[in-house]
Amino acid sequence: MDLHTITEVRRPASRSELALGPGDAVLAGGTWLFSEPQPDLHTLVDLRDLAWPPLEVTGSGLTIAATCTLRQLAAFRSPHRWPAVPLLPRCCQALAASFTICHQATVGGNICLGLPVGPMIALAVALDGVALVWPAGGGERRVPVAEFVTGVRRTALDPGDVLRAVEIPGRALRATTAYRRIALSPVGRSAALVIGRRDGDGRFSLTVTAATERPYQLRFPAVPPPQDLLVALAGIERWCTDLRGASDWREHVTGLLAEEIRAELS
Ligand SMILES: Cc1cc2nc3c(=O)[nH]c(=O)nc-3n(C[C@H](O)[C@H](O)[C@H](O)COP(=O)(O)OP(=O)(O)OC[C@H]3O[C@@H](n4cnc5c(N)ncnc54)[C@H](O)[C@@H]3O)c2cc1C
Repeated sequence: MDLHTITEVRRPASRSELALGPGDAVLAGGTWLFSEPQPDLHTLVDLRDLAWPPLEVTGSGLTIAATCTLRQLAAFRSPHRWPAVPLLPRCCQALAASFTICHQATVGGNICLGLPVGPMIALAVALDGVALVWPAGGGERRVPVAEFVTGVRRTALDPGDVLRAVEIPGRALRATTAYRRIALSPVGRSAALVIGRRDGDGRFSLTVTAATERPYQLRFPAVPPPQDLLVALAGIERWCTDLRGASDWREHVTGLLAEEIRAELS
């Protein structure tokens, strides 16, 4: 849709030109920004001319630029034997939207929007992703993505901050993962998205998203017995109720999906 309050679109080519003030918003894929009126905004700051490499394999893992599109992420071919890589396209497919939206949406836009259904949030949390933030005042700040999204449409970004990238450690990419998702209709938005991970040293983690207001990651020294997993899930406090399902149903199906994952990774 047209955004009638926007009077300027800036295209910074370097960090020094990025400065964001009140009424400015970062424009990434624009799939959410252009989907509803933005009466509080007058300027869009388009990140594309910063030309960040979308995906970089580093000595410590994989760095995903905030501007990496879901299309680019889904097409990633790893130069290493990283068993967790198939999780990347699977999470991209969890975005329940049109072909155009799925191709334009960015990893950073999905995470910064902070919706419970954000599949890039699920992916990044499940793989111990760390958000590299460019604070408005300069420098850099790193926050685990599990702590970056703090609630529905709430993140650890302060006004003027920009998410630069998500760093995924090689240890998580070398892990074995299991993925389960449920929605009320075959192409509907996720009601629960649950990802398990078993590391090379046997450690186990379970990431719960979409059913909860913020991502939860439950960690264990080894794959737990069913009862221990249930006890840990019972500690989750912020289950969602919205058009995608009632909180008690989502809590129940999350338990079933979690047990499937536990059994698969045992
Ligand atoms: C029909 C439809 C269906 C959708 N289905 C889903 C779905 O199933 N799951 C889901 O999660 N979302 C869904 N969305 C919402 C949205 O399209 C996605 O979340 C998408 O990934 C947002 O990414 P984007 O790059 O388009 O972000 P944009 O729309 O460009 O930006 C989103 C927000 O994040 C901010 N932002 C973007 N990048 C940065 C950055 N690097 N640093 C700081 N702030 C930043 C923007 O200022 C804005 O506030 C849907 C939207 C539509 C219209």
